[in-house]
Amino acid sequence: MTTALGAAMFQLEVRGDGVALLTFDQPESRANTLGQAALTELERRVAELSARTDLRGLIFRSGKPGMFIAGADLRELATIPPDPPVVRALVQRGHALIAAIEALPYPTVALIDGACMGGGLELALGFDFRLAGSHPKVEIGLPEVKVGLIPGWGGTQRLSRIIGPPLAAELICAGESVNAQRARALGLVFDVVPSDRLVDEATRLIEWAWHSQAHVQARARKRLPVGLTEDQHSFAFAVVHGQIMARTRGQLPAPLAALNAIAQGCNLPLEEGLKVEADAFVPLVGSPIARNLIAVFFMTQRLQKDPGVADPTVQPKKVERVGVLGAGIMGAGIAGAHVRRGIPVIMMDNNPTALAKGVAAVVGVLQSRISAGKATQADLLAAMSRLSTTTLLTPMGDRDVVIEAVVENEQVKTQLFRELQPILRPDAVLASNTSTISITRMAEAVAHPENFAGMHFFNPVDRMPLVEVIRGAKTSDQTVATLVALAKAIGKTPIVVRDSPGFLVNRILFPYMNEALALLEEGADPRAIDQAAMAFGMPMGPIALYDVVGLDTALYAAHVVNQAFADRAKTTRILQELVAAGRLGQKSGAGFYHYAKGSRGSDDPALAGFLQKVRVGSRSPAAEEMTDRLFLPMLTEATRVLAEGIVRDPTDVDMGLILGIGFPAFRGGLLRWADALGWSAVLQKLQRYEHLGPRFAPTEMMRQLAATGTSLFPAKG
Ligand code: NAD
Repeated sequence: MTTALGAAMFQLEVRGDGVALLTFDQPESRANTLGQAALTELERRVAELSARTDLRGLIFRSGKPGMFIAGADLRELATIPPDPPVVRALVQRGHALIAAIEALPYPTVALIDGACMGGGLELALGFDFRLAGSHPKVEIGLPEVKVGLIPGWGGTQRLSRIIGPPLAAELICAGESVNAQRARALGLVFDVVPSDRLVDEATRLIEWAWHSQAHVQARARKRLPVGLTEDQHSFAFAVVHGQIMARTRGQLPAPLAALNAIAQGCNLPLEEGLKVEADAFVPLVGSPIARNLIAVFFMTQRLQKDPGVADPTVQPKKVERVGVLGAGIMGAGIAGAHVRRGIPVIMMDNNPTALAKGVAAVVGVLQSRISAGKATQADLLAAMSRLSTTTLLTPMGDRDVVIEAVVENEQVKTQLFRELQPILRPDAVLASNTSTISITRMAEAVAHPENFAGMHFFNPVDRMPLVEVIRGAKTSDQTVATLVALAKAIGKTPIVVRDSPGFLVNRILFPYMNEALALLEEGADPRAIDQAAMAFGMPMGPIALYDVVGLDTALYAAHVVNQAFADRAKTTRILQELVAAGRLGQKSGAGFYHYAKGSRGSDDPALAGFLQKVRVGSRSPAAEEMTDRLFLPMLTEATRVLAEGIVRDPTDVDMGLILGIGFPAFRGGLLRWADALGWSAVLQKLQRYEHLGPRFAPTEMMRQLAATGTSLFPAKG
């Protein structure tokens, strides 16, 4: 006999054997999240269950396939005022709920058969046992540091007690999640079982617990201090501290706050550990960095949902077969990205040696993913079975999309397009990966310019998430929508950009790169320039970036962009000198820095001779001036890009730079950074450098924002 008690989000069913099944299924949502309404209902359910002394056990599960609980409701969290008593009340609510689950007078089991993140895992940690299912989407973790927070419902304390403080610290401070197998190896779940066996296994676990009293022990273990010795304590946390500093250079407070909460709380009873955690959590909520990171999270979500075109009736074409022209660095990367995600590719190159190298490069990426535990041998075999090669154009006849990535030479590309025309299906989409050539101009060489666009990947393709989809003057909405959908299908984040020199990212990047060279020629030390950029949060400095990109490639791209914006672009001489001397950067062993085998770049005394030839001064600007001068020309260009309608809104600019050049997400993006400074303050800063040239002159948009006291992103919460 079963008793069913209906409810909006949680269904409670008490089976004939006395085991209660509580199922979480948020209506009209793909995810379960722990917002206020869900919490209220769950509190009521748990209160009911606490009174039921007649029950044999509780099984908690989700009604959604591939999803346990996605976490707290970030949208709600973003609107909570940074008011300590309000935040504390929310923390205490979670604590009380989980404590009530831990006090239920019978064994409890949480069934995790999908994403179990953040507050969802903190809730699951309140159960005596966790069982993971075999669904491929099982992913378990506490990713709060990624949005500038730490777990606030006991995650730092309970996970430390369940899997040990060093492992808990590693996972929580990196915001990393684990799959079912790893969760079992860590002791985070009791076992992994086929999804359709979860309820039966949980029932057996409940019976076993009654006999062994394992649930009583599990509860005691969570309540008590871990009891690390002083040596264990200092060693474990020093290692994780080192990892955090290497990853964040100390620029992000949340990972360090999480580490402190674990380190200070693990040798205390749970009650006191929870207080330590709450003290660390409260000041982070509503902090500028948390707000920025949450904003970036929402911007990412928005891009993921963006079809790339305004007209809702436009549908992307189905893409089942892709052709890639060119098997070089980019061609191989693009082909690899497709076959890894299940899309068959024919890769074409007119040079058979290049084809062989391209295939080896695809294998190489897959092998490194296997070494990193992100793929299996079977994945490699499956991916390679989808890749074929040719030196001819004829096999492109059955392709839905062909992506061109041959040498950066307009004549070579357009000649290839002409040869391709009679072979391609008339409705096939043709996309060029060019970095610098006008899409609108190249479209003149193709029979169906409406089916032609740019699809600009970044190097290395396997690691860079951004794809700029470039709309030429005649590109159709359907072509844009098709390439946007394809980019998403291979795990990339597309941003639609109107055709213009440098597209989005390079156009905004070059004023910054140019300024680094201007500073250098005025006398600044190259390391000091790189330091200033990294202190701001860039993953590497501009001088080191020149060496990575290749000075010849950078010189060529700079030429295109600087020529197009000659009224304001700052030109310098140093690149030309170094390229002429064969110093091309990392790939030639020396550029601005020197690269002995395996070295990440050391100072090179030979650079002084080149600098002497081009230097126009000998001053070393202060760090603040360098930061201002690097980022302000970038910002003025970004406002031009917006005003010209190159992208559709400020989100595209900020996400393009975060994903394309590693602009620090904790600053929320370039435009959001300026919003936070205030546009009047930006104008004041610019005034200081206006004598240096028009690149420091405020744009009309900047003046208006300052005059009206408005910001580009509406303020929330
Ligand atoms: P690459 O020199 O590594 O590869 C180019 C390949 O094209 C070579 O294998 C060559 O044999 C082949 N090729 C030349 N002419 C051909 C033809 N007529 N038919 C067939 N194959 C031909 O170059 P890459 O770095 O991979 O760049 C390719 C494209 O991607 C360029 O347009 C470049 O601007 C763009 N791009 C490069 C980067 C980067 O960082 N390397 C980043 C973004 C975009």
